[in-house]
Amino acid sequence: MRVHNFNAGPAVLPVEVLHQAQECLLDTQGTGMSILEWSHRSAAYDAVRFQAEADLRELLGLPQGDAWKVLFLQGGASLQFAQVPMNFATPARPGGYVVTGSWADKALKEAEVLRSGRCLWSGKAGGFQHIPERGEWNAAEDLSFVHITTNNTIYGTQWQDLPDTGGVPLIADMSSDILSTPRDAQRCSLIYAGAQKNLGPSGVTVVALRKELLERGNKGLNAMLDYGVHAKADGIYNTHPTFAVWLMGLVLAWVKRSGGVAAMDAANRRKSDLLYAQIDRSGFWKGHAERASRSRMNVTFRCADSALEAEFLSGARERGLVGLEGHRSVGGMRASLYNALPLASVEALVQWMQEFEARRG
Ligand SMILES: *Cc1c(COP(=O)(O)O)cnc(C)c1O
Repeated sequence: MRVHNFNAGPAVLPVEVLHQAQECLLDTQGTGMSILEWSHRSAAYDAVRFQAEADLRELLGLPQGDAWKVLFLQGGASLQFAQVPMNFATPARPGGYVVTGSWADKALKEAEVLRSGRCLWSGKAGGFQHIPERGEWNAAEDLSFVHITTNNTIYGTQWQDLPDTGGVPLIADMSSDILSTPRDAQRCSLIYAGAQKNLGPSGVTVVALRKELLERGNKGLNAMLDYGVHAKADGIYNTHPTFAVWLMGLVLAWVKRSGGVAAMDAANRRKSDLLYAQIDRSGFWKGHAERASRSRMNVTFRCADSALEAEFLSGARERGLVGLEGHRSVGGMRASLYNALPLASVEALVQWMQEFEARRG
């Protein structure tokens, strides 16, 4: 029996994809071997990674040509926090960071290790409930890039639109909302995302970057940390996380079959609207994020009487609603509503919220 999986990441995957993976596990594509046993240098694997790359470009609205490089790397989004400033910032031309949550703060701290980060704005004093308006921060011309986190997984806030940086290259950590809503990725110079929220299993990190940015990158880096080395090796400098890339390919094909990013967006709006409406219906519940900054991926909320939360969460588990505990740094509840989470899971959650409120309200 499958539960209603609200995990923040690794997270729910489409059941169809899990069935496909199960069927292919002993013999993938008639090779007499499992994908787990393929060489990362085989023609069969090349076909898998090139198809995943082409589908990802199509879904992100990126051209198929050479103007953008798409890399499948390891080390998670957390390694990107270091790799981005290592490649593109210097103490004289630092990266500028809009700090809207813990992940953004970690990204800034990695740039600070290199003395190449500058905080442009921080929402920390306000409990990270808010995404700043364009007038609240400034992108000075001496910056090598502006870094944002499009969705703040822990606090449940989300940039509704990509900001205008006045010509300074925009770099976006899209780990927790990639392909969930249409965004003009071409407004960015580099985007990155760990796969384990909207793209597939953990173990692969997607990086897409403009060739112009790549050509301006810092020289003299260790090979694995140099985007140029990966790009020059046609994206396969060392052993790929082949299974993770293959499964991500199945998820991308599922997104396309299901109607693409527009269909994901419509479903995600329906799911999040339903849950926020329940939170707002009475004073029993309290949303964490300011309304205009609310995330459609991670809905963070509390009971107005926080002493009731443990009972709510244990009742949820009994009903097969799992992964609703808030991040250990903030507490309360968090429901992650990634692309693969069915509407029925949100309906079951809302029903339990209504029952619990009737009992305890
Ligand atoms: C989950 C997450 C990360 C961390 O990803 P790892 O793959 O664990 O390094 C970074 N940024 C955002 C926005 C996330 O949601």
